[in-house]
Parts: sequence; structure tokens; C-alpha cells
Amino acid sequence: MGTLEFLGTGTSTGVPMIGCRCSVCSSKDPHNNRLRASALVKIKGKVILIDTGPEFRLQALRANLTAVDGVLLTHTHADHVAGFDDLRAFNFVNGERVKVFGSPETVEIIKHNYSYIFGEAIQVGGGLPKIDLIASRDTFYIDDIKVTPIPIWHGKVLVYGYRIGKMAYVTDFNRLEGKSLELLKGLDLLVLGALRYRPHATHLNIDQAISLVESLQPQRAYFTHLSHDIEHERVTRRLQNNIFLAYDGLKLSFQD
Ligand SMILES: [Zn+2]
Ligand SMILES: [Zn+2]
Ligand SMILES: [Zn+2]
Repeated sequence: MGTLEFLGTGTSTGVPMIGCRCSVCSSKDPHNNRLRASALVKIKGKVILIDTGPEFRLQALRANLTAVDGVLLTHTHADHVAGFDDLRAFNFVNGERVKVFGSPETVEIIKHNYSYIFGEAIQVGGGLPKIDLIASRDTFYIDDIKVTPIPIWHGKVLVYGYRIGKMAYVTDFNRLEGKSLELLKGLDLLVLGALRYRPHATHLNIDQAISLVESLQPQRAYFTHLSHDIEHERVTRRLQNNIFLAYDGLKLSFQD
């Protein structure tokens, strides 16, 4: 068995959104409080983090996270990587480099955006993160844990979800092709990004996510990357059977 903990379930703005006075943003229900999307997988004694969003430091503290065996990046939008520099805390605590995996495109953009880490050193020392960036589009291993990248289309940008055992975490996308559908068969737990009810150019909406769940037939599906259009309790009542809304702090187990 593995476990997946949702460290954040919000879309790029988070919920509440700065300056918004809507009923969800001002809700007292903690299920409507969503940090930016990220998840923590624990399996066979290993700890794997998915994405390092702007609230990564806060999420790591909340989850009592002190070390990771690997970090998986889905893509380089700020809501998924802007806490990247905070990975250096693991260097300080454990004296070890951190392994970060992403597609070749993701790795190139990270190197460019964080040139002070990966470029010519202007200054040595001073707390630079010690990170090994590893590019892969194909199945790879973190120690003995098999990780399969799932290619998905986020508008015109090719990004990735990940499958570990019978769990897949697939957030920012609105389209996927045959090979990826195959990689998502036979799941115990499917996590999908499902932004809101209204259509969106680069994300699935709730109805599209439900259709995908119906065609893939996982045991259970949880929706994440939710906007402030989604009131937890009201939308939960509309969902059927094996489909649920995720919320920050929710922990689920899955078959490996
Ligand atoms: Zn996102
Ligand atoms: Zn709002
Ligand atoms: Zn995105």
C-alpha cells in the first residue's frame, strides 16, 4: 500500500483568492481553503513530492516533511514550481542533494529560471540549493519505486502527470491521447485536475473530468486544482459513486 496526501488542492490563485469576497473565498469551512496544488506520496518507506508550488514551505511544515527521496515536477507554471528554492532546506537538514525529475522541457526551463543555481556560479556558498535535475519522458525509478510519466496537453503545452503503482496524479490538462489513456487503466486511485463547471481553455472542467473517470473506470477518483467556483459541500453532493473532491490535508491509501 502507498499513501497520497494532498498538500494543496487549489488552482493557480489559491482559494481564497486575493481580493475576492465571493461566498467560497469567505467561507468558514476549511474544505474551501485551498493552497496551490501539490501532493506527497509515501510508498515502501520512500517519500516522493509532486510539485513545489508557492506554498511549498508552508505545506512541508504542515506535513512534518523532513526529507524527500525524489521530487516530480508536472510542469513549470508558477503555481507548481515557485517554491522550488525552498528544497534547499532538505540539503541543510540532511546534508544530501535533492533529486528532481521532470520532462526535458521542464528541466530546461527550470535551469533557465533558476540560473543562479544551475548556471555559472557568481558566488559560491551562501545557501545555494544542491539539486540534481533529471530529465525523463519514460518510466524511471526512484530507488525501487517505479514512476511513469503520463504525457498530457495543457492547452498547447505538453506537460506530465505521474503514475506510481495503481495511483495516478494528473492535474493541469484539457486533453490526452491514446497512449496516455492506456497508461491510466487499471487504477485504484485517480487524481484529476478539474477546475470548475464552466469550460476552460487549458483545464478539464468538472463534467469533462467525470466523463474521463467514466471511461477509465478507476476504483476511486478525486478532483483537485479547484477554483473558488467550487463550494466543497455543494459540489460534493452533486458528485456520484466513486468520485470525490479532494481537500488540503486529505490522506488516501492506494494499492501499489
Ligand atoms: Zn496549475
Ligand atoms: Zn472568490
Ligand atoms: Zn499549469
